Amino acid sequence: MRPLIKEILLMKPDTEPRTVYGWVRTKRDSKNVCFFELSDGSCLKNLQVIVDKEKYNPESILAKLTTGAGLEVDGMLVESPGQNQAVELQASEIKILGEAPAETYPLQKKRHSFEFLREIAHLRPRTNALGAVTRVRSAASFAVHRFFQERGYYYVHTPIISASDCEGAGEMFQVTTMDMNEVPKVDGKVDYSKDFFGKSSSLTVSGQLEAEIYALSHSNVYTFGPTFRAENSNTARHLAEFWMIEPEMAFCTLEGNMDAAEEFIKYVIKYVLDNCAEDMELFNKFIEKGIVDSLKSVVNSKFYRVTYTEAMKELEKNADKFEFKPSWGVDLQSEHEKYLTEQVFNGPVIVTDYPKDIKAFYMKMNEDGKTVRAMDVLVPRLGEIIGGSQREDSLEKLTARIEDMDLEKEDYWWYLDLRRYGSVPHSGFGLGFERLIQYMTGMQNIRDVIPFPRTVHNAEF
Ligand code: ATP
Ligand code: MN
Repeated sequence: MRPLIKEILLMKPDTEPRTVYGWVRTKRDSKNVCFFELSDGSCLKNLQVIVDKEKYNPESILAKLTTGAGLEVDGMLVESPGQNQAVELQASEIKILGEAPAETYPLQKKRHSFEFLREIAHLRPRTNALGAVTRVRSAASFAVHRFFQERGYYYVHTPIISASDCEGAGEMFQVTTMDMNEVPKVDGKVDYSKDFFGKSSSLTVSGQLEAEIYALSHSNVYTFGPTFRAENSNTARHLAEFWMIEPEMAFCTLEGNMDAAEEFIKYVIKYVLDNCAEDMELFNKFIEKGIVDSLKSVVNSKFYRVTYTEAMKELEKNADKFEFKPSWGVDLQSEHEKYLTEQVFNGPVIVTDYPKDIKAFYMKMNEDGKTVRAMDVLVPRLGEIIGGSQREDSLEKLTARIEDMDLEKEDYWWYLDLRRYGSVPHSGFGLGFERLIQYMTGMQNIRDVIPFPRTVHNAEF
């Protein structure tokens, strides 16, 4: 395979000519020479190419060396007299593979707003910031798998289409092959027995319930795949389609779950700091000043752990600071999460033992009968990044919860079977991958850390 520019930049000067490929980023002209920067996306830095105008036929080719043009360049790698690079390419032959006329190519300015770039999602990966996000996202995905694989977790592919009604909640996207103009009905209601699966089905909001099945046969498993929520909210932290990482561990209580979450976050951050130093420096300089040091200190410090009740006491002491008044029983609002992570603890904090009424039916009940073994990991700038819990493993208690919450017991027959046969303590969590990327890069809007964001009224690309 041809060497990439990131590799070429580390090479010694050539003794034989070579061919390099890439796209023009910028060009500077002087009387006798033309300099341009070539990028192939492999790193933030570009390869500087020098063209000697006297030796080289300038008119036809040099005019077409505009930002965005795709090139094949023959030349010799030579020591660079400049400060910014060790080597540069002295061009002997330039072939324009694809022109990018300056009159119409949208990426001319050095810095475009992220809002503008969202409208050209097919071109934005060619910018420095989105290019860096792309590389960090890829490295972080690899780190996710490496973390779990090194520790003996199995990667389980949970379904994208879910015809079980277990996941509940109104935020689901329906999946159907029915003709929307002629929906079959009985007694005025949609007749799903005529639909593809013979029942109503949706895109998954979480792979957790299915991951539990595999944890109870393989001990430690994880999923890492797309999840879908028809969130009608327009926030900088919510997407309709996002990637979630969900480990599920048998013979594991809430303490083990917290330890795993903390170790996992630190591992991925460290991997990205170690392997994407150049890209992280861009975020450090232009996106969130000081983020590299702050992430380093996260890797080296212990996450604070508090119960919901303790956290609420802290918030109530400062009630005047909030729009939503904190009080025991209400869910933490994002302003509360911000206050806890930025003012009280100044770092990531794990909040545990939430009131049962604001959490899902499957979380393990505490002795007090009022709180459940839930844990949320909150981080500065973003708030919740992980939601998890120890799962209810008692058949009686889980059945009682399902009845309490007016859910249909029949829909949960296989989930209850897991408590009927070989039920053991088990725990897991869900981490929104894009939130983690936001946390590590400082990017303000979640739409800029996923290649093709899906949000209300937006699925163009
Ligand atoms: P939030 O309260 O922030 O909307 P949630 O409590 O509804 O999140 P969970 O069901 O606990 O979310 O999902 C687990 C994790 O998935 C969250 O901690 C978050 O990191 C991520 N997540 C949830 N919803 C979204 C979304 N719409 N877009 C991106 N990530 C999300
Ligand atoms: Mn949550």
